[in-house]
Amino acid sequence: MHSTPAYAVPRAKAPLVPFTVDRRDPGPHEVLIDILYCGVCHSDIHQAREEWGPAIFPMVPGHEIVGKVAVVGSGVQRWRVGDTVGVGCFVDSCRACDACRSGEEQYCTQGLCLTYNGHERDGVTPTYGGYSTKIVVDENYVLRVPDGLPLDRSAPLLCAGITTYSPLRHFGVRAGDEVAVVGLGGLGHVGVRMARAMGAHVTVLSHSPRKGADAQALGAHDFITTSDPAVFAKHAGRFDFVLDTVSATHDYSAYLGLLKRDRTMVLVGAPDPSPLNVMPLLFARRRLAGSLIGGIRETQEMLDFSAAHGVACDVEVIPIDRINEAYDRVVRSDVRYRFVIDSASLKRA
Ligand code: NAP
Ligand code: ZN
Ligand code: ZN
Repeated sequence: MHSTPAYAVPRAKAPLVPFTVDRRDPGPHEVLIDILYCGVCHSDIHQAREEWGPAIFPMVPGHEIVGKVAVVGSGVQRWRVGDTVGVGCFVDSCRACDACRSGEEQYCTQGLCLTYNGHERDGVTPTYGGYSTKIVVDENYVLRVPDGLPLDRSAPLLCAGITTYSPLRHFGVRAGDEVAVVGLGGLGHVGVRMARAMGAHVTVLSHSPRKGADAQALGAHDFITTSDPAVFAKHAGRFDFVLDTVSATHDYSAYLGLLKRDRTMVLVGAPDPSPLNVMPLLFARRRLAGSLIGGIRETQEMLDFSAAHGVACDVEVIPIDRINEAYDRVVRSDVRYRFVIDSASLKRA
């Protein structure tokens, strides 16, 4: 057992407080990772505040983990002590269902083990996430962080990066396509970089007019402020693909009208139910789809792509004792563009 400093949400909507997690000794096919950085995803906040339904408390959030392998189990083949690795939104899955066998473990139908707010394979032991200094994970659910990626700036790739990369790939975005990224937050800003690296012509749609210069600096070709409703008529039928990363309730139908005929808008943001007028779907055979993170194989592909194309996140590195303030700032869209916890601060806390 490894007594591990952490921060936890003791009950729904309560502020995070210091907490201790007992991490098990790694089994034969597990590794113990010393966590260096962990990103703060809006999903951490949704779950800590029980915005997605009943959650498991105390909760140690965090699923954008980068660290170094510190201990390897006796049968581990893939990793050596000292390797730089990442852990994303899940730490295990059933390995037998159709999704798992297709390398799409995120859609496991028999028991995806979320990194936190979930259970280990036994179905009863709660999982605790990356707002801690160590984690134990099966070797097959660990990612290699390629040389050259800055560690603090790559931690958010483990969720924000794969969540934007996967639908861009799955729906076949190609060089020259007109791509709209809706919402310039943690997901949106890395989505802009991913789409740009794939050669797309990228437009940001934002409810924050002040983000225009940042969008351009991130590589967007165009920036549209959605606070002016006239923009929806002006840009109707313009885009080949719309990636909606917005964390708050909004009217999807307005954005659907921005698609060309037969094109797809993918929701990755996960707010409370939002209204939907079906007419824009009917009238141009447009499609509305969803997408959840990505599988292990594709997450590795995304990390390698990021290293090859110089894609990383813009981060504000914080000590753990600023986490509650960080949550409030994320909800206000007041972060450029991802908070990342420096895990060394947990050892001092
Ligand atoms: P974030 O950093 O808070 O970014 C969300 C963005 O949404 C904001 O920057 C803002 O962009 C826009 N927004 C916020 N409030 C708004 C409002 N009231 N009206 C209109 N726009 C608003 O969050 P994130 O970490 O990127 O996560 C975004 C969403 O994706 C969350 O719901 C999260 O749970 C979800 N998520 C899903 C997956 C998945 O696998 N599908 C994975 C990770 C996260 P502008 O200021 O530019 O408008
Ligand atoms: Zn996330
Ligand atoms: Zn499965």
